[in-house]
Amino acid sequence: MKIHEYQGKEILRQFGVPVPRGIAAFTVQEAVEAAQKLGGPVWVVKAQIHAGGRGKGGGVKVAKTVDDVKTLAGQILGMQLKTHQTGPEGQKVRRLYIEEGADIQKEYYLSAVTDRGTQKVAFIASSEGGMDIEEVAHSTPEKIVTIFVDPLVGFTEANGKELAKGINLPADSLSQFIDICQKLYKCYMDTDASLVEINPLNRDSKGNIVALDAKFNFDSNALFRHPEIVAYRDLDEEDAAEIEASKFDLAYISLDGNIGCLVNGAGLAMATMDTIKLFGGEPANFLDVGGGATPEKVTEAFKIMLKNPKVEGILVNIFGGIMKCDTIATGVITASRAVSLKVPLVVRMKGTNEELGKKMLAESGLPIISADTMAEAATKIVAAVK
Ligand code: ADP
Ligand code: MG
Repeated sequence: MKIHEYQGKEILRQFGVPVPRGIAAFTVQEAVEAAQKLGGPVWVVKAQIHAGGRGKGGGVKVAKTVDDVKTLAGQILGMQLKTHQTGPEGQKVRRLYIEEGADIQKEYYLSAVTDRGTQKVAFIASSEGGMDIEEVAHSTPEKIVTIFVDPLVGFTEANGKELAKGINLPADSLSQFIDICQKLYKCYMDTDASLVEINPLNRDSKGNIVALDAKFNFDSNALFRHPEIVAYRDLDEEDAAEIEASKFDLAYISLDGNIGCLVNGAGLAMATMDTIKLFGGEPANFLDVGGGATPEKVTEAFKIMLKNPKVEGILVNIFGGIMKCDTIATGVITASRAVSLKVPLVVRMKGTNEELGKKMLAESGLPIISADTMAEAATKIVAAVK
């Protein structure tokens, strides 16, 4: 789960990581009041969306007067902000953050992320802050330094020194930097984050270190123990189909293609999408109905897929293990009738009660195209949507 920058900064503040003073605003009037409350001489008006690269896209602007704040808030609120992380259609700005202008001397990059390879929390830092870190990693990888935190001892002074050395941090900021890293580590662990990224981490002309941006991702599987983080959820920032799917416990991700896929098991779902692409098609979604899919769940899955106007055909690829093929056949038949299916449907079933399931589909009277292998299923659905 993702949250907004201003919410991330609220969390950082609680853990003692220094951030500028700021106030969130939902209207131009609130933005003006926020600016007055903060006092000048400089403010930054920041679009709040769940994507980075806002500055480059025109969503972060400096204001020198309250009137400027008013004008900029009016321009940014409601705009369709396009960044390299939003996709071409952009994301509508519904919230602003009005923050005091910082005295920027040098921008660094600092993040904490779970590293699956070492099973540790990695801290990544760079002297090239404020920029797209993927670009830095690509063109000047020597400017990125990574350390792994030993879970038994936590973030040590030695860890901090190594990072500081790697980013050429001036010595007078070292103890502050180590303190911030240790607080960030505690914040990361206590909130069950999967990513905390501060880009930029600013060093001002007095040598003080302040977080100017805050990006958090949280482990969704741990949200049950963090109602305070769930309260930050902003459904406007999430895909409507994915929200609907989560209500039925379906793992669904929207994609750009025209072939809807309904599969059980994440691995088979990935393989199915690969096979569709291999045969020249484009999947419209990832959908894992899970191991215990009931006819009701399959029906909901069909409805969600068909709400996408781009879907021109559906491929059902099921391995009948614990869930038998005849159960799935019942689900597919019920669902096809319930939604009065108009697009071609290819079904491939393998496993327990396969013959019975196939017979039920054949006798249903529905125009279901049956397939035996994955290649055959993909070829048939690609041909059907052409
Ligand atoms: P994004 O990463 O989405 O572009 P940031 O919050 O990093 O958004 O802001 C972009 C840039 O704007 C920063 O790199 C920094 O140079 C500047 N900036 C952000 N917040 C402030 C602030 N409070 N004071 C001064 N400059 C800021
Ligand atoms: Mg940033």
